[in-house]
Formats: sequence, C-alpha cells, structure tokens
Amino acid sequence: MRKGNLLALLILIGLVAGVLVGEFVLFDPAPTDPAQHDATLSLWQSLGDIILMRPLKMIVIPLIFISVVVGITSLGDPARLGLVGSATVVYYLSTMLIAVVIGVTLVSRIEPGVGLDQGFRDEKVAQFETHAKSETIQTAERELGSAWMGLVRQIIPSNPLRAAVEGRVLSIITFAILLGLGISAAGPRGDPAKRVFDSLFRAMMAMIHWILWLTPPGVFFLTAWSVGNLGLGEMAGPVGLYMLTVVIGLAIHAFVILPLVLAIFGRCNPYRFMWKMRRALMTAFGTDSSSATLPVTLEVAEEEAGCSKKAANFVLPLGATVNMDGTALYEAVAVVFLFQAFGIQLAFPELLIVVITATLAAVGAAGIPSAGLVTMVIVITAVNTALGDPTKELPLAAIGIILGVDRILDMCRTTVNVWGDATGAKIITRLAPDEPVVARKQPKAAA
Ligand code: ASP
Repeated sequence: MRKGNLLALLILIGLVAGVLVGEFVLFDPAPTDPAQHDATLSLWQSLGDIILMRPLKMIVIPLIFISVVVGITSLGDPARLGLVGSATVVYYLSTMLIAVVIGVTLVSRIEPGVGLDQGFRDEKVAQFETHAKSETIQTAERELGSAWMGLVRQIIPSNPLRAAVEGRVLSIITFAILLGLGISAAGPRGDPAKRVFDSLFRAMMAMIHWILWLTPPGVFFLTAWSVGNLGLGEMAGPVGLYMLTVVIGLAIHAFVILPLVLAIFGRCNPYRFMWKMRRALMTAFGTDSSSATLPVTLEVAEEEAGCSKKAANFVLPLGATVNMDGTALYEAVAVVFLFQAFGIQLAFPELLIVVITATLAAVGAAGIPSAGLVTMVIVITAVNTALGDPTKELPLAAIGIILGVDRILDMCRTTVNVWGDATGAKIITRLAPDEPVVARKQPKAAA
C-alpha cells in the first residue's frame, strides 16, 4: 500500500474510533463525579493538543512565511501577481456569498427556530449569562468597534517580527508578498535568496511529512473528546433541526456548488480531486482548525492533487485565514435561527444584512476552533441595529443556545473551509501553472 493511502486509512480509523470511543466510553450525560468526568475529558483534549495541534501550530507561521515568498518569487512578474491576486479574491468572495445565500435560503424554508422549546431556550440563555463563557461575548463586544481597523492594521504591520510572534497571519502574508516581489525585482542578484527560500520550503515539506504521521492518533483523541463532551444524541435534541439545516447547507455547498465551480473553471473532475485531498479534509474535520490543517493542505495539494506551487503557495495560506465558505454559511443559518427562536421573523432587508455581514464576519474569523462563534456577534449586532426596535433585539446571550453543539458543527464547517481553499488553489493553477521540469541532458560519457 502506498504511504499516502496508508496514512489516509489510518486517519479514517482514528476518526471513526474517536467517534465510537467518544460516544460509548467518554460521553456521560449524568456523571456521578462531574469533576472527575471533566478531568478525564480534558486529559483527552490535552493528548490531542500535544500529539497533533502543537506540532502543526509549531510550523504554521514559518510555513506561511516561506511558502508565500516561494509562491510570489515563482510567479516572477508583478503583473501576474495582480491577475492571480484579483482572481483569488473574486473566487473567495463569490463562493462565500453563494454559501451564505444557500444558508439563508435553507434556514428561511426549514425554520428550525420556530417552535423551539422556550424553557430550553431561556435556560440556555440564563446559563450563558451567568457562565464564564459569556467572556466570549465580552471579548467580541470589546473588539467589535475596532474589528475592521484591526484588520487593516493587521494587513499593514509596523513590526513583522512582532506580528509573527503574535501569530498575526495577514501581517505575515503582506510582508512575505512584499519580500517575494523584492526578491524578484532584484533580478539575478535576488537569485541566491530565491534558492534559499526554495530549499527552506523543501525542508518544511520534509518536516510536514514527519508530522503527518501524528495525524491519526491526534484526530482520534480530539474527535473522542469532542463527541464525548456532547454525545451524538444531541442531534435529536431541541437544536437537532438547526444542526441538520447547517449540515444540509454545508453538504450542498461542498458536494454540488464547489464541484460545479471547479468543473467549470478548473476543468477537472471535482470528485477525483476531492478524493485526492481526503487527508487534508479529514485532518480539518479532526482538528477544527483551517490554520492548523494548512501544512497538510499544502502538502497534499501540491504533491498529490496537482496544484501548482505558484497557485497553492499563495491561495492556500491566504485562504486558511480569509476564505471560509463553511463559516459564512454557518453564521447565516445560526443568526436567522436564533432570531426565529425569539419569535422574530427577519424580512428581506434584514436577510440582506445577514448575507453581507456573515460574509465579512467569516473573512474576519481566524482559522481556529470556534472563531465563527465569536465573529457571529458582528452579524447579530448589525441585524439588531437594522431592526431599530429595542423590543425586537436579539440578546447576545442567545448564542448560549448553540454553544453546546458548536464543536461538532465546527468540525463540519472547517472541512468545507479547507475544501473551498483547495478548490481555489486548483482553479488558480490554471492561471499560474508551474513550468514543467525539463530533465537536463546528460553529456555522453566518453567511450
Ligand atoms: N474552525 C473554523 C476554521 O478553522 C473557523 C470557525 O468557523 O470557527 O476554519
């Protein structure tokens, strides 16, 4: 069996075993000793963190820097970057908008929030208000006013080293793009730097190959922890219909819309491409984080799925932070659902605001677990303001209703986020293919 296939099989086994162990061993709706139960669960999470998340996170920042520099220097001409950059942004925004429209349409038709048990609703809201988790809201509210300025500041960093230390991905990407352009502009004198980055990139790929073998046990512990926390029975609980709406929306986007876009603009068999990307998709499902999955996405896209280095090295790192189709769809469904749960039916103008702000909120969400839950505050606040009627306002603590089931939905939406990035890289490969490697002729040995 090929190494890649073996690894994919092991990851799948890790996922399935994680679900089974989480559901049948770890999940306990009424533990006799809650403190002990929590301690056991947090041990499983820590194991997943140490085995997989930390090694992946360890290489993600240098990888983004090096891969973007390599991508830009291999593009060479700045005009080409303009074309590739604008095509990428158009792709990101249009697919995210399509995802949100699917979400809004489904949630308005299925109406999962109408008739939600009011006792359950009020209990969750009250729990949220008193629970420390409301810190999520406090942080989000605090940062809301400066969110967009913060984004602009991230794009133009004053100190790239500090940005790297603080893990500000957009700052690193800006600096890497400029450095890549500088190396290209330096002409032949930039060549040594180009070669250094190329070989560093090869070295990073070798490191990724090692870390990949940690994926099966890592996703096992993380999935078992996620499922053990919640239990699959929640799917049949009061928010089950809401979860189903999100999952149906994500499935339509992942299995119909993106493949269609890929078949039309990427001219390839989308399902075969999806199959080739399976290791990255399963890692996204297990880790809940597009950023932590990035090393795997890059490796698989370039080495198995036929994406060019020029396209993938630029589209994937940026996409892991900015392009989030799954998150955009989820935020739209969640917000409309919560308004429905409070008996507020949104009309077309408010739904339009949901479409626009959910797209922007997804752009602003980092590629880390539960980021979408925090930026959802942006969407709720915007709709509340548009309604302009204090009696119709949705309390932010309403997020408490969906907080408990967020992890499972996060696994699904992160997979769609990574699938959207990969699709983009494949499409942009047509605009920026790598030069074929021409084998150098060996001089004939003297007879
Ligand atoms: N976990 C998602 C990601 O990393 C972001 C989110 O929707 O919370 O892509």
